[in-house]
Amino acid sequence: MADEPVTTMEQMVSLEYKIHSTPLQRSYGRALREGRITGHKCPECSLVYSPPTGFCSLCVVPTSEQHEVEIADRGTITSFTIVDPIQYRGQEEREVYALASILLDGASGSIGQQRIGDVAPDEVRMGMRVEAAWLPEEERKGGAAQAALGGAIRHWRPNGEPDRPLEEFAEHII
Ligand SMILES: [Zn+2]
Repeated sequence: MADEPVTTMEQMVSLEYKIHSTPLQRSYGRALREGRITGHKCPECSLVYSPPTGFCSLCVVPTSEQHEVEIADRGTITSFTIVDPIQYRGQEEREVYALASILLDGASGSIGQQRIGDVAPDEVRMGMRVEAAWLPEEERKGGAAQAALGGAIRHWRPNGEPDRPLEEFAEHII
């Protein structure tokens, strides 16, 4: 009403980010566009880092292309969260969905914040086996998004394999 105090004002803001990718991120992104997930295997302790970091933080040794290994595009859900999106203006999410940490076969650590699809959120569970639902090759993103799994993989879906017992992935829960 006209004589009520002004308590809020709306303002639209548009932000454009330019993120410069490193050579390591570019090479990881190139592989993703080809439908491959890569990592670096430490020459001393054999831990496999994916995405590759260019070094092993335990052994303090650099890793490079010669230490590159291919990681499977399937793995085990180690933990998850169910997101019920608040409907603010600009929100594009309408439905409840699940985000999970996944321990990919062949990797030594879980990757976080991965979208789970093709299954009801209340059926998602720790130990569930999933596989990548790759975007069609022409839809996989370039630029800074190259280095993100989400730029190449639509989501992860159950692959029908039996669940893995907790003791197999307990140390990888993040
Ligand atoms: Zn190491």
